[in-house]
Amino acid sequence: MKSYSYSKIRLWEECELKFCAHELLGLKPDSLFDFDPKMQLGSLIHNYFEKFYKSQIQTSLFRQGVISLPEWQEEFRQEWDKLSQKLFIPSKDIQKALEERGLVSLKNFYEREKQKDFKLPIYLEGRFQVDLGQFKLGGRIDRVDREEDGSLTVIDYKISDQVQTCLQADADQQLTLYYLACKQSLSREAPKRLALYYPIQDEIVYTTRTDDDVHELLEKILNMDLEILERGCNSDKYNTSPAEWKCRSCGFKEQCPEHKFMHDLSLPNKADIESKVEEFLSLKKQIAPLEESLEGLKSEIKEYMKDNQLKKIGACSLKPIQGDIYDPIKSWDFIRKLEDGYQYVKSLNKSLIDEHWDNFEPEQKDILKAAKIRKPVVYHLRVDN
Ligand code: SF4
Repeated sequence: MKSYSYSKIRLWEECELKFCAHELLGLKPDSLFDFDPKMQLGSLIHNYFEKFYKSQIQTSLFRQGVISLPEWQEEFRQEWDKLSQKLFIPSKDIQKALEERGLVSLKNFYEREKQKDFKLPIYLEGRFQVDLGQFKLGGRIDRVDREEDGSLTVIDYKISDQVQTCLQADADQQLTLYYLACKQSLSREAPKRLALYYPIQDEIVYTTRTDDDVHELLEKILNMDLEILERGCNSDKYNTSPAEWKCRSCGFKEQCPEHKFMHDLSLPNKADIESKVEEFLSLKKQIAPLEESLEGLKSEIKEYMKDNQLKKIGACSLKPIQGDIYDPIKSWDFIRKLEDGYQYVKSLNKSLIDEHWDNFEPEQKDILKAAKIRKPVVYHLRVDN
């Protein structure tokens, strides 16, 4: 049975082709992650947080008390020293700055835990698997705490430069998945709160989830699953979503059609077509100011003709054309968002509104009835040759 994790869902949303290459065709990416010092530091900090309580549980059998902060930081420093030698870090200063981020994270974590008397979480790196019949959802939750009032809090550690806003945390799909996992797999109990903990900034962002949020997420995953089922392993059927931030670190760049020209040395007449592309771009740059002047002149002439009710000045004619036809159902969301909804309704097509009349809510029907429905007239300046 198929199994999805949050990282697979995120990969699908990031780029379908990348998902296909990695998850369906099983291609091995040319991993850039292995050498990214920031990523590696993040995962080392993450490991240290996990180890903190795991070793705590083991050592408490033999000795009293918690490891001291300087002792813990020293262990981390030595580990980072070993690790950083294997990475490409441009200078000693950057290596030190990264180490400092790690030490600050450990300090913030330690002091926060101390305030709670180092109370053990009820789950650490808790593995889960939720069987949904058609597929399974699996993953690992950093931590689940039992609070004083008896409720549960799910905590996800985030080692990153930017702290999410509350709104972003409310929409975080990973936390929705963790809510479901905690309720149906780990503790069989719904968590009251879910939290993102940022140790570098020592900030914590809380959010909550309901079963409705879970349904919404499951619907999304179900659609994704159906799409995959329909397209199979045929990579031609998966869309690319190129963007600098994604493609830069993508391990499938060399196979990706978006970047094929850069990597495929066997393509014919590469140099020739490359110089044509450069020429095209340079000409485009040269005519850009001309196009801008033309547009400026066009609108000035058009305004003058409309104000003075002229149909023709020399070779320029003002042509009235009908506006676009909108589907009122699809347009409804826009109508609600616009301050001047009535004005927008005027641009809807009457026959389409009639066709969908039964689908409108009473409130929507009132607005539509009150609006004068007709197609707008858009004036277009035409130049005769
Ligand atoms: S290079 Fe960019 S567009 Fe191509 S597969 Fe990777 S992320 Fe997708």
